Amino acid sequence: MSRNLLVHEIYLSIQGESTFAGLPCIFIRLTGCDLRCSYCDTAYAFKGGQTMSIEAIIQTVENMAQPFARNGTLGHKLPLVELTGGEPLLQKESPALVSQLCDRGYTVLIETSGAHDIRKLDPRSHRIMDLKCPSSGESDRMFAENIEHLSPRDEVKFVISTHEDYRWCKSQIEKWQLNERCEILVSWCAPLTASQQDPNLKPAPSPETLISRQEIIDQMMKDALPARFQAQLHKIIWPADAKGV
Ligand code: SF4
Repeated sequence: MSRNLLVHEIYLSIQGESTFAGLPCIFIRLTGCDLRCSYCDTAYAFKGGQTMSIEAIIQTVENMAQPFARNGTLGHKLPLVELTGGEPLLQKESPALVSQLCDRGYTVLIETSGAHDIRKLDPRSHRIMDLKCPSSGESDRMFAENIEHLSPRDEVKFVISTHEDYRWCKSQIEKWQLNERCEILVSWCAPLTASQQDPNLKPAPSPETLISRQEIIDQMMKDALPARFQAQLHKIIWPADAKGV
């Protein structure tokens, strides 16, 4: 019996975030998420999509990857492959898909909200896990046990909208000594465009509480924060609400 996933889209672009930013990457965007973060820019993936077997997904990936066949980079077959969403861990076949992609030699990244158990994912993969800041409206949905299972292959991401978010991020890094566990990514939360607004998202923070990119970086320097500030490359290169990039 074939094992299926609900897939919103599969496309080739550059990786816009994480320590892998800038490398070619095939994105497998899965449908559905059980959170409603105030800043979610992929609410369009909450529903829709098509059912695909693991074999059909891998065949699509192999076809897209074929032009890169002899062009790897140090330590990584290219393109990378990322499962994103939505929330990939909501689909029970995601771990099997990840393992089969790893078996084929791909460097596999999984973007996850942090609300679900990451242990089910193949240890050869790279888990890029959010820790949801207060302004997301979803801080209390984090699966706390995940912290103990982070490895140096993984990355933790804070998306920061407000001054309170920054202070919370700093306190979490200290509390869990995250810098001794894995890479830490700090992202500025880009405002949603009109077309990205979704009435089901948690309320956005009030404008007077917002923090700018420069303020985040100034504060990181003052605090000697052991983290990597990252811009979202795809939002610099393409319009912020472009899909499939
Ligand atoms: S975890 Fe939050 S940001 Fe990510 S898809 Fe779900 S609602 Fe959107």
